[in-house]
Amino acid sequence: MPKDSFPDSVIAVDLGGSNLRAALFDGDEIVRYAKTLTPREGGGPAIYADAIIDLIRSNLSAEEIASAKAIGVSVPGPLDMEKGELINSPNLLFPVIPIKAPLEDEFGKPVVVMNDTNCGVLGEVGKDGAGFHNNAGPDNVGHKNVGSNNVVYNSKSTGIGGGIFADGHLLLGSTGNAGEVGHLFVDDIYSVRCSCGHTGHWEGYASGRGIPHFFRAYCRKNHIPMKCSAILPTAEDIFAGIREELSRNGGNSDGGCDRSCDLGVFAGFYEELSKINARAVSSIIAAYSPAAIILDGSVAVNNGELIIAGILKYIDRYLPTPEIRLSRLEGKAPLYGAAYCCALSLRGYNVHGENRSAGTHTQY
Ligand SMILES: [Zn+2]
Repeated sequence: MPKDSFPDSVIAVDLGGSNLRAALFDGDEIVRYAKTLTPREGGGPAIYADAIIDLIRSNLSAEEIASAKAIGVSVPGPLDMEKGELINSPNLLFPVIPIKAPLEDEFGKPVVVMNDTNCGVLGEVGKDGAGFHNNAGPDNVGHKNVGSNNVVYNSKSTGIGGGIFADGHLLLGSTGNAGEVGHLFVDDIYSVRCSCGHTGHWEGYASGRGIPHFFRAYCRKNHIPMKCSAILPTAEDIFAGIREELSRNGGNSDGGCDRSCDLGVFAGFYEELSKINARAVSSIIAAYSPAAIILDGSVAVNNGELIIAGILKYIDRYLPTPEIRLSRLEGKAPLYGAAYCCALSLRGYNVHGENRSAGTHTQY
């Protein structure tokens, strides 16, 4: 985004399951950045707002805080956007976590709270969307690059989430959950249980938390004794095993599985994991026809080459295959998106690009 569409200084915060980040933005540039660990224990839901306040006050001067016109906070969903409260967020400690009210009370400026994957896609489109820079934000309806107006952001870390930017709009759906692609149905053979309680969902198989359970189900199904069955390997252990076996097989995963000992087990599992990822990505392409699918989150970032190659091997070719790549924003896409939400809000727009006061609808 050019400076004229993003004229104000704002503070953006990214409250994640593991890390808490804050940044001061001047235009769309980060001028100060701080990171700490998200609280893992505490007596009540106020620990999260308190940690945000502490991070901002300890890293920004009083003048810098005063210069910011608003605060945007990216949070793991689900949330009540109106109240700015997290509701039953799976990776945080309390069922209801107020963010907006305590930060507004503390800093006396508007606070916008948004789902992290929706922030992620706004960050990608706004900061790294080729062509979007030329559109000069919501006041310019020019569409010089339609591709940048159709982007799916897919985070793969502890869970799997998505943010959908379609035809130049953030897609929220009737309940704000349109991007919950982690709960796409992908399998009825292994019947792995998802964190939501259902079986067959993508997140249950291919997230950081899901991969070890899928690996165990794969070994059981194929009568493969797991050397490490006493302790479930982590997703990173499993990817390390895949890499080792593929390099031993000269990079070829086909036929590398010797079931009599567990040589090749990881390579065989990689094929099944790739089919699962490709099924979900094929559904995303059929539903949204994106020009780009951008992967982010620790599991994707650490294993991007394997994951993307596996998807491309098994993806449905019914519709043209979009660009599938890793985020280039070094884990800061939700921060950029939170800042962008502030910029929109300060100019009277909501996240759809609708002008709240005039009731007009500007495509951006
Ligand atoms: Zn689910």
